[in-house]
Amino acid sequence: MLKLNQPAYSYAQTMDSCRDGITGNVNLVQKLDIEIGLLQVSADGYVASAPQGELYTLQSTPNHRNCDPIVIGSLKKSELLKLYSTYFVKSGKPGRRIYNSLMAAANEQCPFCGGIGRPRNLDHYLPKAHYPQFSVLPLNLVPSCRDCNMDGKGENFAANEEEQVLHPYLDNDRYFNEQWVFARYIAGIGAEPGVIEYFVRPPEHWDVSQKKRVEKHFNDFDLDLRFSKEAGPRLITCLAQIQELTRIPLELEVAKRTILQPAIESASFLNHWERVMCLALMNELV
Ligand SMILES: [Zn+2]
Repeated sequence: MLKLNQPAYSYAQTMDSCRDGITGNVNLVQKLDIEIGLLQVSADGYVASAPQGELYTLQSTPNHRNCDPIVIGSLKKSELLKLYSTYFVKSGKPGRRIYNSLMAAANEQCPFCGGIGRPRNLDHYLPKAHYPQFSVLPLNLVPSCRDCNMDGKGENFAANEEEQVLHPYLDNDRYFNEQWVFARYIAGIGAEPGVIEYFVRPPEHWDVSQKKRVEKHFNDFDLDLRFSKEAGPRLITCLAQIQELTRIPLELEVAKRTILQPAIESASFLNHWERVMCLALMNELV
């Protein structure tokens, strides 16, 4: 739900770096040299499919235990996975610089949950167990927080358009430039501050599968609960500040605008939980 700039490193540069780090495995180096063309074609297919929401149409590899299928050209699944684990992630290898660069580019904000979590590692948008051909494709590697953790979802990957969560690098701009997260304010009883409840309301003009995708994203990452928890302390502060101003006295509408409008205008993106919370308070706090 948070857009990330496309990685600074190309796929070709990443493959070169991984290859440069290979020691004592001449066979793998030779295979990579032969198959680099096919790998690049496959990566190009990824880049072409993602903005259309069609990554689910790409060829996956069956994930059976004790089975090491050939995935692309002569390259086996185990070799493509090793490219990632041994020649990309491992510290000291040239590929690790690219890993670190991808992590740094997220600026401490996990794109899946809109920045409430800090990225802990790179996750494979298309899981490497099923799509080993994209194991070191920078556009498939998303900095992700512990709670979002795509890699931890194991066997689950999208079988149709509607099951795909949003792709932070490549998805349709409308998911990032139009508001689809909303909230309502449930007033508390007595001195209780109440709660902010978040929900999905995609724009009417989106097509059905786009509406289902944001619903899926919101549910998969538990954003209703996580945003509400995040909003709790901020809500208390906002209500106290507004109440303070009404004691001056200021009209409630003026007090609300004074406290909430700056947060709405300075939000880093439209669907940010705090912006959405302040909009709800503007409309519903009476
Ligand atoms: Zn996250």
